[in-house]
Amino acid sequence: MCGIIGFVGRKEAAPILLDGLARMEYRGYDSAGIALRSETKGIQVRKSKGRLQTLSELTHGGADLEGVLGIGHTRWATHGEPNDANAHPHVSENGKIALVHNGIIENYLEIKEQLMKYGVTFSSDTDSEVVAQLLEYHYKECGNMMEAVGRCLRRIEGAYAFGIICADYPNALIAARKDSPLILGFSPEGNFIASDVTAILQHTRDVVYMNDGEIAVLTADSIDVFDDEMNPLEKTHSFVEWDVAAAEKGGYPHFMFKEILEQPEAIRKTISPRIRDGRVVLDDIHISAEEARNINHIYIIACGSAYHAGVVAKYIWERILRRPVEVTLASEFRYSQPLVDEHTLVIAISQSGETLDTMAALREAKRLGGRTLAVCNVVGSSIAREAHDVLYTWAGPEIAVATSKGYSTQLVAMDLVGLYLADLLGTIEPEEYSAVLTEMQKLPEKMQTYLENFEDTQYFASRYFNHDSVFFIGRNLDYAMGLEGSLKLKEISYIHSEAYASGELKHGTISLIEPGTLVIALGSYGPLFDKAMSNVVEVRARGAEVLAITTDAFREKMAKTADSVISVPDTHPLLQPTLSIVPLQLFAYYVALQRGCDIDKPRNLAKSVTVE
Ligand code: GLU
Repeated sequence: MCGIIGFVGRKEAAPILLDGLARMEYRGYDSAGIALRSETKGIQVRKSKGRLQTLSELTHGGADLEGVLGIGHTRWATHGEPNDANAHPHVSENGKIALVHNGIIENYLEIKEQLMKYGVTFSSDTDSEVVAQLLEYHYKECGNMMEAVGRCLRRIEGAYAFGIICADYPNALIAARKDSPLILGFSPEGNFIASDVTAILQHTRDVVYMNDGEIAVLTADSIDVFDDEMNPLEKTHSFVEWDVAAAEKGGYPHFMFKEILEQPEAIRKTISPRIRDGRVVLDDIHISAEEARNINHIYIIACGSAYHAGVVAKYIWERILRRPVEVTLASEFRYSQPLVDEHTLVIAISQSGETLDTMAALREAKRLGGRTLAVCNVVGSSIAREAHDVLYTWAGPEIAVATSKGYSTQLVAMDLVGLYLADLLGTIEPEEYSAVLTEMQKLPEKMQTYLENFEDTQYFASRYFNHDSVFFIGRNLDYAMGLEGSLKLKEISYIHSEAYASGELKHGTISLIEPGTLVIALGSYGPLFDKAMSNVVEVRARGAEVLAITTDAFREKMAKTADSVISVPDTHPLLQPTLSIVPLQLFAYYVALQRGCDIDKPRNLAKSVTVE
């Protein structure tokens, strides 16, 4: 959601900014713009609604703008419709200050009204422009840009990452952050600000993560970071392990397809360093056996697919930990007066580690005294840094908006944490513990087996792609997986779909089943297979067309009842979702392809949701 890039250095900035924005396209946006500063032309801005391609054409690939200092932005509108005027950068009235912003300024109206009284004219409807105008106001008042930034930050409320340039400061890029992601990058050719590392990976892996309340001043040769009272800070540099190729399409038609195929490797990377001598070893987690015994309630807080990974974990953890596990949408948790105290373990799951709702929920959990643990994919991300402990999923960069490897690595990461806690607590039988671990290590290979032969999934997608409503049904872990399968389908193919616990259908929704309705029946959870079959019979009796997802062992049985069957290799029942989700991802992918949808950048969606 929204991408910020800024550069100050020894090379023309415009092409660098356009390239950086292109690498962040996956985050989701509706308009884009860049601003540069040069000695002869001052501040020059180009921006437009729509795809980056339009901006690139408008600037002839950046050739129309000159300067070695500049900022760029892809906007995900929150205040004011997506149009040219509301696109960033925003420039102050006298044309001297340009700013890009990610986030929401909550008190923008009151500041806007005040500035209007002083005669300031606004040229957009955004909350962000208010900050550009306020900066000009303070700059005129004190004559010092840093002081003006400080005054401005003290006045505004809300969430922000800012990139700011000023015509009077030929060699300074100013950045500030609170509750929106922003990193600093160091390279011999110049220095960068960016919303995430993928934007600058081709230039540098030497980065510093900004914390909330920090302000940075970048020149071509230096980066200085200050706290909110302008005291200088010593920051630790981090080295980004991801390589550039991992964030590029590499010949695949879509990032999503590439990322689905990368899952066996991503899962291997997530689990293999953590299983040693038949035990789960989580060096990063510092929960002692005594602390574990003190936990009497577990919350899992997350949004979207990460929430669905939490639902899977709930079924598994309650079984192996014998403790109540509540999965709560992060956006609801925060305002629901959650029952958290020092006996509560709160797990926050977020691929990007920047999901604002999850971040806010995590902070609330900490405030209430809970013990927190983050499951994130992006090293150094805000959620990873704020939680007491973090377990990283080693999925590598995930670019497609609809998650695949991000989700499946969350499943195995949660399996690992669950087993680790169960071992500490002694709530799992040693035989079951070993059986799950042995099977877990075989997951990458078994997933690969399915991924080498998925023509039937592709075929069924072409057979069913023109349905306009789909129901996913399943019980227990199959239900949890259905939630994710259904979300995948709606996200990228725009088909209406719903996931139901099979047993719940008869309590209402079965009224929607009519001849020809497509039902995707999930029957891969062995212990409840027969019950799942009964529900398939139930919907078929009402004319539904049933596509079933099951395991190889149950394939034959399922084929007697369902119209179409896809099967995946068998594994331990608790791990089955990690395999069974793959055909659902591919089904959604091929359906979206048939329907001509923009698979990697579905409409209205953003990758890293950094607003509330
Ligand atoms: N709130 C700002 C706007 O609507 C920034 C949105 C963003 O983060 O892209 O313009």
